[in-house]
Amino acid sequence: MPPADLTRREFLALSGSALAGAWLAQACAHFAPRSPFSLGVASGDPAPDGFVLWTRLAPDPLSTDPAAPGGLAGGDVPLAYEIATDDGMRDVVLRGAATAEAAFAHSVHVEVAGLEPARPYWYRFTSGAAESPIGRARTAPAPGAKLERLRFACASCANYEHGWFSAYRHLAADDPDLVIFLGDYIYEYVEKRRPTVRAHSDGVDATTLPLYRNRYAQYRLDPDLSALHQSVTAIATWDDHEVQNDYADRWSQTFDDPQEFLKRRAAAYQAFYEHMPLRPSRARPNGPAMRVYERFAFGDLVEVSLLDGRQYRSREACWAKPDHGGGHLETDATCPERRDPRRTYLGAAQEKWLLDGLVRSRARWKLLAQDVLMAQLREKMPDGQVGFWTDDWNGYPANRSHLLQTLHEHRVRNAVVLSGDIHSFWANDLKLDFDAPRSPTVASELVGTSITSYPPPYEKFAAFLPDNPHVRFFDSRVRGYMVSELEPQRLTTRFRAISDPQDRDAKLTTLATFAIEDGKPGPVPA
Ligand code: FE
Ligand code: CA
Repeated sequence: MPPADLTRREFLALSGSALAGAWLAQACAHFAPRSPFSLGVASGDPAPDGFVLWTRLAPDPLSTDPAAPGGLAGGDVPLAYEIATDDGMRDVVLRGAATAEAAFAHSVHVEVAGLEPARPYWYRFTSGAAESPIGRARTAPAPGAKLERLRFACASCANYEHGWFSAYRHLAADDPDLVIFLGDYIYEYVEKRRPTVRAHSDGVDATTLPLYRNRYAQYRLDPDLSALHQSVTAIATWDDHEVQNDYADRWSQTFDDPQEFLKRRAAAYQAFYEHMPLRPSRARPNGPAMRVYERFAFGDLVEVSLLDGRQYRSREACWAKPDHGGGHLETDATCPERRDPRRTYLGAAQEKWLLDGLVRSRARWKLLAQDVLMAQLREKMPDGQVGFWTDDWNGYPANRSHLLQTLHEHRVRNAVVLSGDIHSFWANDLKLDFDAPRSPTVASELVGTSITSYPPPYEKFAAFLPDNPHVRFFDSRVRGYMVSELEPQRLTTRFRAISDPQDRDAKLTTLATFAIEDGKPGPVPA
């Protein structure tokens, strides 16, 4: 990356450069003139002195020509960016050069530094005669600085075919300082059984790099999701549907050869990188490996540990039975393997990084932003036996116990787990021993419902609650998201519900509000 400090003259020279003009002419020769910024802009990975700015040049965003992703063939494209302190881009404080990398579908990831902490900035990209929309990004507060408030929202499970993204529109209107994507940002499969309101452009399951790219492009063409990224700085992890339902590391739900599946995973991870405002110095993929987990600090108030629940986990317990490749229910009698202490959810390196960070942290609050339900869930089966779902933390109870024991032994204060995946709202006590109701609560869990994806059956799951007294709240009947206000003395989270995912103009209500008080683990109605 060249030094991000161009003069106005250099900036204009670069944005109007012959190279940039050449690719635009080439693009327009093949396609109706359309902005190369069709996929909008995004910001992410906030730091006290900057953030990551993202865009992707795609004059024909759903092009099916694998040699021209987004309708753009050829090499890297230079472009320029400007950052201002006002939304009209009059007071420009930084100008820089960036590269749309051909190897990454002409996506752009600029690591901006040198800005002031805890404030909004506005930015835009320029390439040739084309200008991107103006986006807004926010820097984090200075390390250790006294912070009285952070407002953040959590989103997960946005199936494009299952509904309109009005939940994203309402989330943007809530205007949080930060949005956390907890996974299932895209769905790789095509809906074959249930009603849909719209279709993927290609009509097939994503399995290759061009198909994953177009999946992300189609999602980003949605005006509500695009507007959210344009106005709110994001951090993002993934769950399974960014690759394949219920996969674990190299183990496919469909029993594919692990080496073949790793090629598919590499394509899926690369497309995730190409479309998310991730820091390239951390997250640029290397074959099938990509580092998503990271810690983000906001003054003295909070550290957010963003976790990767898919890449390093052990194969699903009792995987090798017919139809058992993905998540399924197992009892202790049918599957003693589930409790095997050698099984891992986070993988050894991530687990050590997480636990070391939590034990050392001096922040008032510690958020664990991650993909799937952590609380134990005893599910009464038709034959009266108790089963556990193998795809969430219930499939990895030894790893979960070790985490909760560490929080307890080291008196880690104010740990709150934020989860998605299960398409329903939950507020849970995380117990040192879930099977002993008087066991101490050592942390809290808040689970957000889906943006659109179909829920689990309400009556069936509600019937499990008497067997799970640590669950304080459950509702799967609405779609939406969580929005939280974090202060030194408490975390207050509203479960936000939309009226109908099949209604483009869905209305918003608050289904329930939970608070977690400083030093008192366990969410309580507020
Ligand atoms: Fe989901
Ligand atoms: Ca999932």
